[in-house]
Amino acid sequence: MSRDPATKSGPRTRARVGALTLDQLLALLAHAGLIDERVTVDVQMKAASQRKRLERERDKAGRGDVPVTWAEVIASFRLPARGSGLITEARVQQTVAAAAGVPFVTIDPLKVEPKSVTETVSFAYARRNRLLPLGVEDGRMTLAVDDPYARDVIVTMANRAGMPVDVVVAVATDIQRVLDEVFRFRASVTGAVAELGDLGTDFGNLEQLVRISAGKNVESDDRHVVHAVDFLLRYALDQRASDLHIEPKREMSHVRLRIDGVLHKVQELPRVVHNAVVSRIKTLARLDIAEKRRPQDGRIKLAHREDEVELRISTMPTAFGEKAVIRFFDPQVLFQSVDQLGLFAAELEQFRSFIRRPNGLILVTGPTGSGKTTTLYSALRAIASPTVNVCTIEDPIEMVVEAFNQTAVNTRLGLTFDSLLRTLLRQDPDVIMVGEVRDGETARNAIQAALTGHLVLATVHTNDAPSTIGRMIDLGAEPFMLASTLVGVISQRLLRKVCLNCRQETSLSSEQASALGLELRKGEQFPVYEGAGCPRCRGTGLQGRLGVFEVMPLSEKLRKLVVEGADAGEIGRQANRDGVLSLRQAAIKKLALGITSFDEVLRVTVESSF
Ligand SMILES: [Zn+2]
Repeated sequence: MSRDPATKSGPRTRARVGALTLDQLLALLAHAGLIDERVTVDVQMKAASQRKRLERERDKAGRGDVPVTWAEVIASFRLPARGSGLITEARVQQTVAAAAGVPFVTIDPLKVEPKSVTETVSFAYARRNRLLPLGVEDGRMTLAVDDPYARDVIVTMANRAGMPVDVVVAVATDIQRVLDEVFRFRASVTGAVAELGDLGTDFGNLEQLVRISAGKNVESDDRHVVHAVDFLLRYALDQRASDLHIEPKREMSHVRLRIDGVLHKVQELPRVVHNAVVSRIKTLARLDIAEKRRPQDGRIKLAHREDEVELRISTMPTAFGEKAVIRFFDPQVLFQSVDQLGLFAAELEQFRSFIRRPNGLILVTGPTGSGKTTTLYSALRAIASPTVNVCTIEDPIEMVVEAFNQTAVNTRLGLTFDSLLRTLLRQDPDVIMVGEVRDGETARNAIQAALTGHLVLATVHTNDAPSTIGRMIDLGAEPFMLASTLVGVISQRLLRKVCLNCRQETSLSSEQASALGLELRKGEQFPVYEGAGCPRCRGTGLQGRLGVFEVMPLSEKLRKLVVEGADAGEIGRQANRDGVLSLRQAAIKKLALGITSFDEVLRVTVESSF
């Protein structure tokens, strides 16, 4: 095989791109019947400049030492494959594996043996050559590469390992991700353990070490702990995690991330490192590192990409030591343009008309973690301007926004939702956000504020839009007053989206259809998508979340029902006649559009109450 001339030289030392040339890859794809002559010629023409563009992006992201492969270049064109689907990097690599007669694997980061990685190869070498030792069994090493034709690299690895190597093919991007994830982090941890050992310190009490780094001269002793924590925080952000848990157990300490609402165990730390890691986090949050018996909480600001991300830290003593939980407030998640929240076109128009109102009450409802804050913040940001005074009362302030005047509830100081709301009305507000209505005084004052010319947005804990009316009245709201101020109710949940990287088309079985209350005629199909599971979605088949909404404007008929004290059932039926989709109906619509999965619709929504 000839070396690709394009990789021979360049202004910077960019790594080799491998033995397989672009032309050879395209020939393999054509031979497999995935692309035709026209596509081949088209890609050949555009590939070089496309690769330069991808390299510039990578440089900007500070990962200039990671080579851009031809498989990535081809995948970046998002070419339709003949038959179905797109030519993804995985598709290219499967073709390469088949041609080379070696297995194609999807790497499971949790199954990689970090020891066999760190003992045989340096991070730089592995990264440059895109290889990842997956483990050793019966005196043979399994080595994942993206290019099985790069013989010299494979021979070098066999020599270093001192054992025969079985080659498997994987996706280069996945190899790089796992290298970053497993190798770098574990290397920091291993380094920390080794150096802590050298110091001969008491392993249970390592604050001393962290304190050194708080001083001016950062000693090399603790750089591993600093790296490990830095890595964990950035890794959590890259994974779009909402929470990072560091939990001491008897033998090890577990690191878990909450991604799209579900916890995933991502790392294990030796006990000796746990304390140093928690202390480092406490130092960053300016907490008292000597205090371990009392829960503490603090904040860290972290620059991430273009934004400043706010981290809220909470520590708590547990049976095996101090547990730390870090909650991430990513502005990209908390602030979205209202048209990106997941509302269908008609609902979006209604929602926009709600927040254009000069006065009235808008209620947003749903359980904790249903995306209410994102909806409210996004709405407030759409409203906020130099001519509008936007005030919020929150418990606690989720994210500090300069454009708003935010006040936190503090019951110890007597600052409750209710008392703050009364004070706020003397502050000449235009728009008021009440974090939560949970008592009669707050309910009545919110309505009063709406009646006296303010636009009030508030959340209430109820399961759907129709039952919110009854909840407000139970709290002590006057039905007539409520009916005359309420603009509308929005109930919401977050649905996980099907992973775009591994989704497959399938159709609902008749049992599944009837579980959703759908009646399929004989032979009728209901096509849906499901994720097969891949490294990008951590095998869940789902990635990212999107709101699903019940947007109920208060029509004249509904207004009348509210005054008459109608129950949720009657209100729901009228809402449905008004054209309001229930959460379940809206979720089914998203299922039909291929956005979410059947299981997710069942998990997140209940049978329609109307
Ligand atoms: Zn996936």
